[in-house]
Amino acid sequence: MAEPLTVRLDARLAEAGSSVAVEGVIAEDDYVVGDRVFTVPDGIAFDLDVTNTGETVLCMGSVEAELIGTCDRCLEEARLNLTGEVDAIFADDPDAFSEDLDSDVEVLPIVEDAIDLAPVVRAAIAVEIPFKVLCREDCKGLCPHCGANLNEGDCGCEARLAAEGDPMNPMSVLRALKSSEDPEAES
Ligand SMILES: [Zn+2]
Ligand SMILES: [Zn+2]
Repeated sequence: MAEPLTVRLDARLAEAGSSVAVEGVIAEDDYVVGDRVFTVPDGIAFDLDVTNTGETVLCMGSVEAELIGTCDRCLEEARLNLTGEVDAIFADDPDAFSEDLDSDVEVLPIVEDAIDLAPVVRAAIAVEIPFKVLCREDCKGLCPHCGANLNEGDCGCEARLAAEGDPMNPMSVLRALKSSEDPEAES
């Protein structure tokens, strides 16, 4: 499904210290992260520098994408504008190189003198997805009683349940307390 984004380690990157800029957009259809599914209508834009360090190939830069998913509270559309950082290392023998590396950065393989940047671009966006996906910061969510979207207005359930004396509603408990203390309070 996922298209590779291949950069050939050709003459441009033959010498240690040489670097090439790679920019463009990766098209995405359904972008699945955990149990969430997003659409990415404009794809993931990337602006990267690929550098031959002599021993490895380094890829650093930034990525940007708009993800469209579902709000965790109201189930309406949620749009996320995300930017992320890429910091990846490629080596001929990733396992051998990882052992020498004094960090937990993942080392990816160089395959037939080429590297695939698609996984690092996708991962850089995936880590930026917030734990809670919301249509807006202060989304009011759905009414637990009738299921109305509270962003579109008050469904009236809170007031109705308070008036009916719902024992689960803190407002009605308060009213009951007040009226038993002072009979005039509810007049
Ligand atoms: Zn919402
Ligand atoms: Zn309601």
